[in-house]
Amino acid sequence: MRQSLQRWYCQQGRDLPWRRTRDPYAIWVAEVMLQQTQVATVIPYFQRWMEALPGIPELATAPQQQVLKLWEGLGYYRRALNLHRAAQILMQEHGGQFPRNLEQVLALPGIGRTTAGGILSAAFDLPLPILEGNVKRVLARLVALPQPPARCLPLLWRLSQQLLDPEQPRTFNQALMDLGATICRPRQPRCGQCPWQADCAAYNRGQQQHLPMSEHRPSRPHKQIAVAIVLRGKEILIDRRLESSMLSGLWEFPGGKIEPGETPAECVVREVKEEIGIDIEVVAPLATIEHAYTHFTITLIAFICRYLRGEAQALQCSEVRWVEPAELSQFPFPAANQKLFPYLYAWLEARGHLL
Ligand code: SF4
Repeated sequence: MRQSLQRWYCQQGRDLPWRRTRDPYAIWVAEVMLQQTQVATVIPYFQRWMEALPGIPELATAPQQQVLKLWEGLGYYRRALNLHRAAQILMQEHGGQFPRNLEQVLALPGIGRTTAGGILSAAFDLPLPILEGNVKRVLARLVALPQPPARCLPLLWRLSQQLLDPEQPRTFNQALMDLGATICRPRQPRCGQCPWQADCAAYNRGQQQHLPMSEHRPSRPHKQIAVAIVLRGKEILIDRRLESSMLSGLWEFPGGKIEPGETPAECVVREVKEEIGIDIEVVAPLATIEHAYTHFTITLIAFICRYLRGEAQALQCSEVRWVEPAELSQFPFPAANQKLFPYLYAWLEARGHLL
């Protein structure tokens, strides 16, 4: 099975930028970007990141805002903050070198067992298994797993370790990931082109379309959020989210969850007072947009508001700034807030504001 997989990979494997290097830093950045994100999306982000921050010292000393800006749009921003923090730890404790020792790698923030296996096998050819989403699916089909993979992780880890080619772990792991991504796809697996067809229990039982079994997922909760785009002359108010919150470190327009019995317009007036300590009045509705996060969905209702009085303070956020509209693009914003930008620019332009 090792030979047939690697033969297939030699002919059909994907040529990806992070596979042309043995630099553990580049491979680490790619592995973290690939968590929860498709390869095609990651490639331009990876290239921009490596141009701006080509090594551990550059990442460690970069301002957090630059790191988040380079990540903007990839989602799961905690990953970028963990990369940043881990680079600083590597400078302080490992002389700026990426360690070869599994325990030391696992001690870094944001690196779990499969990411560690992916980096160490690809960079140093260490015989460590991986178990990312594509690999779980391949292995679950290979043995016709009668349960959802999430309930059988120890077994799947053992299987990944047993199959791993100790002579060529780098090539084997990459081949396994490619098999899952391009042949053993979630829907319509291409069993006719699969090097493991003869050994695959799911295929031999005609179950490949029905495996792996899925967990029952409860439907995602929905939240109604109102936000204020507060204008003071030519300036707009933005604030940075608390370190402890989801999307921490990103900038946003102030606002929050609409309370029962409250209108969206009342909500933004209350939220801005609580969060920033200033009084505002609503001028006009701007836009209503829908956005889906992994665990919940939101309706975002945005208003153009006018500053009335008070000094803007970071009461329930970590920083507050008044910025000109043209400066907004310098700040990393969550995707839901970015959807408001075209509406905002159109509104300002229609009223003769210069951008
Ligand atoms: S034979 Fe089909 S189901 Fe089995 S591993 Fe190959 S592609 Fe996946």
